Amino acid sequence: NSARQDKDKEVNVQVLLRCRPLSDEEQRTNVAKVIACNEHKREVAVLHSIANKQVDKVFTFDKVFGPKAQQRSIYDQAIAPIVDEVLDGFNCTVFAYGQTGTGKTYTMEGGKRNKGGDLPAEAGVIPRAIRQIFDTLEAQNADYSIKVTFLELYNEEITDLLAQEDPSRNVEDRQKKPISLMEDGKGCVVVRGLEEEAVYSANEIYTLLERGAAKRRTADTLLNKRSSRSHSVFSITIHVKEAAVGEEELIKCGKLNLVDLAGSENISRSGAREGRAREAGEINKSLLTLGRVINALVEHSSHIPYRDSKLTRLLRDSLGGRTKTCIVATISPSAHALEETLSTLDYAYRAK
Ligand code: ADP
Ligand code: MG
Repeated sequence: NSARQDKDKEVNVQVLLRCRPLSDEEQRTNVAKVIACNEHKREVAVLHSIANKQVDKVFTFDKVFGPKAQQRSIYDQAIAPIVDEVLDGFNCTVFAYGQTGTGKTYTMEGGKRNKGGDLPAEAGVIPRAIRQIFDTLEAQNADYSIKVTFLELYNEEITDLLAQEDPSRNVEDRQKKPISLMEDGKGCVVVRGLEEEAVYSANEIYTLLERGAAKRRTADTLLNKRSSRSHSVFSITIHVKEAAVGEEELIKCGKLNLVDLAGSENISRSGAREGRAREAGEINKSLLTLGRVINALVEHSSHIPYRDSKLTRLLRDSLGGRTKTCIVATISPSAHALEETLSTLDYAYRAK
């Protein structure tokens, strides 16, 4: 089937740019804005002065969302079509990439839940994706199961954010539950030792997110600012039973990975932009390798360096081939963040 083969060769990497509003504190102290978003033209302009001369640098992305963009509109325009693919039985990944404090977690997880069970206006990608998945499968009257995992990757080590704590073990032991990454021979990634949680209703997701957040908070006190240096990966796996053919039962399986990446300042501050990439690699190998893997995919390179980091090994079955990848690059409009903003725009622009 040649149409299908052509589809397989397509690279489906979409890069969105989201600029958060100035915070109340930034507004109160009259912080200057250096970012102008043009959603219609899909452009972001950075206004700054070099040697007292005003310079405009303009970047174009697949989609641009300015400070007023609602969680819902980002989801409906950019993420819902990806979730449709997952429901069709494919593996897809959404990344949030950007400097700490620019809205990665706000984009992925968003605000707190309403008492009623409706999605709050501030709900992020994770609860909205779960809602879309349940709504679609219920409407189809499908025979399905949904499982989620939630892990954190810090210094190339995996921690299970859903693992129930065993109070008989001490704190260090609990942090060190061994988790190993392997492939099953059919091209699927298997994470051994990871808690898989079956989910039966869309609202349960909040309990799981809170469990994960609580776990990360304990880790934070053990190691300062760990969350800005670690990646979190929330994965949703869907199995749908299809009409049986003769004796055989067909199961359609799709996986959605929702990745809240480490703060991008971890690569730029340590000198990646000045070419000291090796040193930066020690600090955050996964963030650098992800950039290389995405570049290689976009350029149809024959070698994709998945093996160079844990994050890319973990996501290998969901990057490249017949998958869709979406990067949401988040930036601050503030003049104080200018250097980091330029580096985020460069990284995201190169991924296109
Ligand atoms: P990150 O995860 O990138 O470090 P956060 O998601 O924690 O950043 O966002 C930092 C702060 O900015 C939070 O208080 C968050 O609620 C707020 N924020 C981020 N993006 C937006 C947005 N688009 N609209 C309103 N508030 C936002
Ligand atoms: Mg965060």
